[in-house]
Amino acid sequence: MRKLLIVLLLSLSNSVHAQDINKYFESIRDNTAELTAFFSQMPKGGDLHNHFSGSIYAETYISYVVAQDYVINENTLEVKTGIPKGEAGWAHFSKLKELGQLDAYKQRLIQKWSVKDYNGVSYPSDKQFFETFPAFNIALKGPGRLDTGLMELKRRAVNENVSYIETMFTGIPCDNIKITDTNFNHLLEEAQQNRDEAKTAALLDKLYKLTEDKGVKACAATFNDGLAKMHNGLKIDDETFTMRYQNYVVRVLPPADVFKDLVLAFESASASPLVVGVNIVAPEDNEVSMRDYWLHMQMFRYCHNKFPSVKYAMHAGELALGMVKPEDLTWHINAAVRTAGANRIGHGVDMAHEHDSYELLRYMAQNNIPIEINLYSNEYILKIKEDRHPITLYKEFNVPIVICSDDAGVLRSNLTQQYVLLAKRYKNISYADIKQFVYNSIDYSFIEEQSIKDKLKTQLNERLEKFEKEVAAAHRGH
Ligand SMILES: [Zn+2]
Repeated sequence: MRKLLIVLLLSLSNSVHAQDINKYFESIRDNTAELTAFFSQMPKGGDLHNHFSGSIYAETYISYVVAQDYVINENTLEVKTGIPKGEAGWAHFSKLKELGQLDAYKQRLIQKWSVKDYNGVSYPSDKQFFETFPAFNIALKGPGRLDTGLMELKRRAVNENVSYIETMFTGIPCDNIKITDTNFNHLLEEAQQNRDEAKTAALLDKLYKLTEDKGVKACAATFNDGLAKMHNGLKIDDETFTMRYQNYVVRVLPPADVFKDLVLAFESASASPLVVGVNIVAPEDNEVSMRDYWLHMQMFRYCHNKFPSVKYAMHAGELALGMVKPEDLTWHINAAVRTAGANRIGHGVDMAHEHDSYELLRYMAQNNIPIEINLYSNEYILKIKEDRHPITLYKEFNVPIVICSDDAGVLRSNLTQQYVLLAKRYKNISYADIKQFVYNSIDYSFIEEQSIKDKLKTQLNERLEKFEKEVAAAHRGH
């Protein structure tokens, strides 16, 4: 009887907290500072759409290149490891320091390597965004760089009450496999033009055999070993935090190379519990990405058949009216879920333009294919925000939603800001909905070990309960 009473009292006090917190949450919806304080402290579960190199802040990259005394082009601000032979206009960072110009260059580099101080007009925002990445690849080459970057991401996540990150980490090097027969590209393009699935599959069979013969397994194993050493050596996983990795392929490369990289990515993911998935990156509106989109879908389907246990999320529909021809807005998400069989969709911004979009939304909901929403990224790169963003469509059709950060370093943002934008802009999304999105970020993660998922869920329950009590106590009577 006493036990029953305690249970009753506890559930009563929980429902009082729930009422209090809903009331408080609704009262702050128009106030960015109040929402920021709220969401900074709210346990947010996981960040499932997170690019490793785009999430590191420019200051870190600058410290790398200055410490290595790399060179910078004084006009273009391009950074290289040494002065290119016979070229003028380059200076070592040590030289700039001597001249008292280093701080000014650092400021200019932050502006070039992120959206800081961007005025929104003098340069296309999508170009400004995507052009940062080659510089990061140069800065990241060298011992200890990846380690420092991973620890930066972890530290930031823990600080803002994020307990899991699934990051798109790096490409997989494999010099053994070179597709020297360029005829493959020609033949694949031809099969694509005819939308010839059988011919495409036959060509992919040949290419797959080639990657096997040239040692794809060995390359994947070397990569996985290195990753495991780094991950375990840094003790990234601990009581409060877990990190997992996705491999990715770059969609603007020639088709045979994309396929080779995809086989490597799937091979690695199938063999390592740390590598939980595969993705496809680079601007979707690029000429090659647009031309080869159909082929890429066939490639994913092919690899799924070879490696049925490997999960994959796909950037699809990161497009807006005006970027490409209207008819090209009608089929990318459709093809990613129906042809390629994506387990999650990244962005999906062109949903309202997709062919039979209601049917597609129902398909995603019925098949539990979540949508990874990146509000600030979409606002910056695509100029899609507020009621032009399809998030309410996804919600209306019960497509599982997860809230993600994309490239918080380049965007000078964080995961908290995504929740602030969500609460401020979409008033029909309640606190209960937002909590559901947070739980989704663990439920729909690609974590392979059920015990880790269970642990993260239990911790999330406890932390959310504590958070709600604290908010209720802090604002009672206000
Ligand atoms: Zn992305």
